[in-house]
Amino acid sequence: MSADLHLHTNFSDGTYTPEELAAHGRRHKLRAMALTDHDTVEGCARMSAACEKEGIEFIPAAEFTAELDGMELHILGYFLDCTHERLLKELAKFQAVRQNRIHEICAALQKIGVPLQAEAVFQLANCRAPGRPHVGRALVKAGLCRTLDEAFERFLKKHRPAWVPKFKMSAADAMELIHASGGLAVLAHPALNRSDEVIPGLVADGLDGIECFHTKHSTATSEHYLMIADQHRLLITGGSDCHGMSKGKPLIGTVKIPYQHVERLKERVRDIKQKAIFAKAAQDSALAN
Ligand code: AMP
Ligand code: ZN
Ligand code: FE
Ligand code: FE
Repeated sequence: MSADLHLHTNFSDGTYTPEELAAHGRRHKLRAMALTDHDTVEGCARMSAACEKEGIEFIPAAEFTAELDGMELHILGYFLDCTHERLLKELAKFQAVRQNRIHEICAALQKIGVPLQAEAVFQLANCRAPGRPHVGRALVKAGLCRTLDEAFERFLKKHRPAWVPKFKMSAADAMELIHASGGLAVLAHPALNRSDEVIPGLVADGLDGIECFHTKHSTATSEHYLMIADQHRLLITGGSDCHGMSKGKPLIGTVKIPYQHVERLKERVRDIKQKAIFAKAAQDSALAN
């Protein structure tokens, strides 16, 4: 009875289709899966159908690119209403900026004599939320780099010639948007931020949970964040952050969390909905009197 709550498909920078990802989930005997593509919920409808076919519980989600005090943070939004108008409008903005960034990255590459066309990246990415991994894969495909790692090392990572900063929403705005669309806001892979100082501020701004279990967290790191979760009364999540075959071996199955954490998340969503219903009823009766 386990769950993987951090997964990507080819609707962002993963390589698996939703159907392939759900099939892997069944092979790893997952009871629940959340799709957390970067800045998009477009894959959720297909993932939901694929999970239903495989007998797996599906949680609609996304990984929002956010920032706080100049630090890039990833905020996971769980149980999002994928038809929420404002959510879709905000995500469309993110996607437009991501597409524009591909043009900027390719222009920077061309300036240093690397002849990669943005069109080649868009063709390979075939999604609305393209990112650096797609540029890296296109460089490999065109024979301009041997590996994805080489592409990042030579061109794409920070301070390299084709690095272009990404649009980020403030962490507070991302959490507000997640809450407005019915979801829970969770800080992704906190150890990758290299600082826990941001956590109390995020909690004050409405953070609901923290990703204690992640591929890049050691056992000691996970225990550290479990303690922080306890301190701030935060929900606990975790997942493999599988991007399919993009990094050689697929990560799905390597991080599984007990299903009880999913139950806690669902209880919280139910509580919030119930409170909203009570608040609305109180408001209506106040207006009637
Ligand atoms: P972007 O959202 O376009 O800035 O790209 C971020 C993505 O690039 C994340 O999914 C990372 O896992 C991936 N990434 C970052 N550094 C590397 C690297 N050195 N090799 C391969 N992928 C990377
Ligand atoms: Zn990614
Ligand atoms: Fe992330
Ligand atoms: Fe991720």
